[in-house]
Amino acid sequence: MILYSPATLCGPAITPSLVWGVYKTLVDITSMQNALRKLHAIPQTALLGCLLVTYGAMSQAALSRSQEKRHELPFTSVVIHDSFWSPKQKIYRDNTIPHSWQYVQRDIEDNEIAAGWKHIERGEDYVWNQANLHKVLETVAYALPQESNPELDKKMDGIIAAIAGAQQPNGYINALMTVRHKETWVDLDGHHEGYVAGHLIEAAVAYYQATGKRSFLDIACKMADHIYQHFIVEKHEGICGHAELELALVRLYRVTGEKRYLALAKDWIERRGKPWAYSSQTPRSYFMDHLPIREVPEVTGHAVRSMFYLTGVTEVANETEDQSLKEAARRLWRSTTQRKMYVVGSVGSQESDEGFGPDYDLPNHGYNESCAACGLLYFAQSMFLLDGEGESVDVLERTLYNAVLHGISLDGTNTYYRNPLSDSNNPRGNIWVCCPPCLSRTLLRVQNYIYAQTAHDLYVNLYIGSNATAQVGGTQVALAQETNYPWDGGIKLQVNPQKAARFALRLRLPGWCRKASFSLNGKLLPKPLIEKGYAVLDRQWHTGDSVEINLTMPVELIEAHPSVKADTGLVAIQRGPIVYGAEALDNGNSLDWSLASDAQFQVQHQVELLGGINTITGHQSDGGQFTLIPFYALANRAASSQSVWLPLMGKSVGMTNWEGRLYRPLASP
Ligand SMILES: [Zn+2]
Repeated sequence: MILYSPATLCGPAITPSLVWGVYKTLVDITSMQNALRKLHAIPQTALLGCLLVTYGAMSQAALSRSQEKRHELPFTSVVIHDSFWSPKQKIYRDNTIPHSWQYVQRDIEDNEIAAGWKHIERGEDYVWNQANLHKVLETVAYALPQESNPELDKKMDGIIAAIAGAQQPNGYINALMTVRHKETWVDLDGHHEGYVAGHLIEAAVAYYQATGKRSFLDIACKMADHIYQHFIVEKHEGICGHAELELALVRLYRVTGEKRYLALAKDWIERRGKPWAYSSQTPRSYFMDHLPIREVPEVTGHAVRSMFYLTGVTEVANETEDQSLKEAARRLWRSTTQRKMYVVGSVGSQESDEGFGPDYDLPNHGYNESCAACGLLYFAQSMFLLDGEGESVDVLERTLYNAVLHGISLDGTNTYYRNPLSDSNNPRGNIWVCCPPCLSRTLLRVQNYIYAQTAHDLYVNLYIGSNATAQVGGTQVALAQETNYPWDGGIKLQVNPQKAARFALRLRLPGWCRKASFSLNGKLLPKPLIEKGYAVLDRQWHTGDSVEINLTMPVELIEAHPSVKADTGLVAIQRGPIVYGAEALDNGNSLDWSLASDAQFQVQHQVELLGGINTITGHQSDGGQFTLIPFYALANRAASSQSVWLPLMGKSVGMTNWEGRLYRPLASP
C-alpha cells in the first residue's frame, strides 16, 4: 500500500512537514531554501492558508522543542544483534584487531623509547604514524563493550601507560616527533601534528566512554591544554595541514565540558583562509585554506582533509549556534553530495592530489580513498545532528553500506586504499598509511549511528537489529529492533518506557524507498505525520507498545545527472541501501555486455556466498544472463574485472527535474 510519496522522488504534496518547513523559514533561511524547492508546484494561496493555520497553532513548547540539540546514543547504550552487522563486527574483533597490532608495534615502541623504557635510535619515518596507533586504540575502545576481553583490556592499559610516559612536561605528546628530535609546531603543513593529536583525542574519548577510565583522557586533556597554550595564549600562527583536531576537540569538549576545547576548535576553523607563513608551496585550496570558511563556495582539495575539516566545521557550528558557520556547512554539504559524490557514497575522484575534481567530474576509475568515505560518513552524521534531516542519514547509509564496507575485505584483514567503481584485477592489500584502522574504527562504531535523541524525540536512523536504552520524555526507554535489513524492508520495534511517557518516535523514511507503511500496536496508520524525512509518532507511549514498518524494496535502475559524462548511457543497480556491481567471474569472464531494455530482475538470498548476500540476476540485451553482487562484496574471490555502472540498451538522457539531485531512479528505460 502506498502511504507516502517523498517529494524528492515523486510529485510534491502539501503535508504537515512541508508546512512546518515553511514556518521554520522565519528563523532559518536554509530551511526556507529547502522548503521552497519542495513547494514550487503548490498553489500559493493554499500554501499561505496552511501556513497561517499552522503558525497560529504552533505552541511555545513546540518552538523550544524544535531548538533542542540532537545527540547520538552512546555506543555503550546500543547492542547489535542481527545477521548482517553482528557477524561483521565479530570478524573485526576476532580478525582485524589482532591483525592490526603488527603494523603499529613500531609506533608503540616509539612511545616506550620516548618514555625512557627502551633505548633505540630511530631513523626517518612517516610523520603521521602515531595516528595509526591511535586509530587502532580507538577501534579497541569500541570493541571492548561489545565483548569482554580482559587480555585486550590489559594490553590497552600497558600502551596507555607508555603514551603517558612519553608525554612531555609541557603536555606535548607525539612519540615519533620526540624520539626523532624533531622541532614541534614548525612544519604545520607537513608534520601532521594536529592530525595525530586529533586521533589521540578521539581514541581517548572513546576509551573513556567505553571503560570510564580517565588514564587516556587525562593525556588527551594535557595535549589539548598544550595546544591551547601554544596557539591561543602564545598566539602562534598557522593551521595543521591535515584537519582532524577540530572535530576531535568538539568530542573532548562534550565529555569534559571544558569550554576552552570548543574555543580552540573554533579558533582552528577561523584561522583558515588568512595569510600566514606557510611551510609548503602547495596551493592553499588543497587544505581548504584558500578562503575563510564562510566564503568558500565549493568543497576543494584533499578529500580526507576536507571531509574531516567540514565535520569539524559542522560540529562547531552546532555547538556554538553560529548561524553563518551553519550556512557554510550546509553550502559545502550540498557541494559535496549534490555535485561531487559517487553513487556508492565515495568522494575524491582525482588521483593527482587525492582530491575533489570539478562539479560532476566523476570518472569511474576515480581514486576514492577509503578514509575519504569514512570522512563523508562523519560529515553526514554531523549534518544530521545539526539539522535533523533524514537526507543526511541517506548519505550516511549509502556511504556505510557501500563505499566504507567496500574498503575492507570480508575476512577483515585486507583493505583498499583506492576504491574505483570500475576496476580490473586489483586485489586488496595492507598498505598501512592510514585507511585500515580508519575503516575498523568506523565499522566497530556503527552502534553510534543507529539511534539519536533530544529530550523529547527518539530517532531511529538506521534499521539494524538491536537493543538500545535512552532517557527520553522524562523516563528511561528500552527499544528493541528486529529486522533482516538490508536484505528486506520489514522492521519491528518494541517500545518499552519505564513509565508511561510522551515523546516522538521519529522513524526514518530512507530516500531510496518509494512505498512504505506503518502500523502501531497492530493497526495500520493511514496518514502518519511526515517531517524532514521521518514518520513522526508523537504520543503517550506505554510499555509493550509495538511499531511495524514495511519499506518496499524493489530493484531500481539508477541514472546519474546528465552532466556526469562518465555515466552517459549507463545505469547503476540498487536495492534498498545496497548498490550492486558486476564481477566478470560471475558473468562468463566478461563485462562486455548490456542490460536488456526490459530487464526483469530476480533477487535471491545466498547464505553461503560472500558471507551471505542477495544476488540480482536478469537478462542481458543478447539474451544471456547476468549476475550482480553488492559493491561492498566485489574483489573477495579470484582477481576479476568489476563495474558498478552498466550499459542499458536504449537508455535516453533525462534532462529535466534534477533540482538538488545527483542520482535518481530511472522511471522507465
Ligand atoms: Zn586513508
